[in-house]
Amino acid sequence: MIRIIISTGILLAFGACAQQNKKVSIGSASTIKGEQIALDTNWTTKIVKSDEEWKKILTPKQYYILREHGTERPFSSDLYEVKEEGVYICAGCKNPLFSSSAKFNSGTGWPSYFQPYSHNSLNVASDNSMGMSRDALTCKRCDGHLGHVFNDGPKPTGLRYCIDGDGLLFVTAQTKTSSAVATFAGGCFWCTETIFESIKGVTEVISGYSGGKETNPTYESVGSGSTGHAEAFQVYFDPSVISYKDLVRVFFASIDPTTVDGQKPDFGKQYRTIAFYSNDEEKVIIENKIKEISTEYSKPIATQVVKFEKFYEAEEYHQDFVKRNPNQGYVRGESIPRRERTLAKVPDLLKSNVKK
Ligand SMILES: [Zn+2]
Repeated sequence: MIRIIISTGILLAFGACAQQNKKVSIGSASTIKGEQIALDTNWTTKIVKSDEEWKKILTPKQYYILREHGTERPFSSDLYEVKEEGVYICAGCKNPLFSSSAKFNSGTGWPSYFQPYSHNSLNVASDNSMGMSRDALTCKRCDGHLGHVFNDGPKPTGLRYCIDGDGLLFVTAQTKTSSAVATFAGGCFWCTETIFESIKGVTEVISGYSGGKETNPTYESVGSGSTGHAEAFQVYFDPSVISYKDLVRVFFASIDPTTVDGQKPDFGKQYRTIAFYSNDEEKVIIENKIKEISTEYSKPIATQVVKFEKFYEAEEYHQDFVKRNPNQGYVRGESIPRRERTLAKVPDLLKSNVKK
């Protein structure tokens, strides 16, 4: 339960600050664009440092907010007006705290969100300082002070996470991918190849193996399940026609992401589903998509999110398999129906010569 009593003093302060309406510029020190920052959503250990150690890695502003429980002036944070898609992370430990999709304009002058990024993001504790009874927010990983949560937020939670932007960093998801290759594993690669060949802006799809350690795997060695590789495919695409985000959308439309180690009718580790990312922007896009679709399924999402390392092209006879073998039993019974089902979900992304 969130319980709030705000004194009239602070309400006046809110009003006074709101009139400043300071225009801020985006892109200074607390905004990170395209920089490689690991979004660690799987952490298990807390981060504990001495004040001296924190001083070494934090700017004075960050230290004031996170370690001294400071409050920035309203409208002073560069992140207040940021509207780009991305993730707000803890400036101290990089723990993902809020998604841009939960940000809203509260008018208070502080970056505001209606829900945290995950259950690993925040701790809530009562704070009776400044003559108020409030619920204080700290980073669950490093205990850095972040702000307070109030019960006057918008739907769906009704909560307002009022955050000091100086305690955050922003990782944008909008940076254009430098490489126009995307890699996925979605069960049988005969099926996934023919699906992505139908998507506009896709110039080539290569079937292969990825996700394991063995060098130069073969269809037989991967099929034995001993290599750690999954049947995978690489999509070569023109980013001016189709975005990586839309490819991720097609990928999730093409699979049942809740199936562990397989896609009907193929089961085994080599048929597990994986969204490979090459940089943090891609990772954020994948993670946001998973968050978005997780409410549509009653079972947890089993699709793995894995840093891309190496892709091995499959044997020549696996390339363009559906095109070459349109009357093969599996192709007729599984690959083509799966392609039709998937394409029906993304009618806006098809090549003009593909039947809708
Ligand atoms: Zn932290």
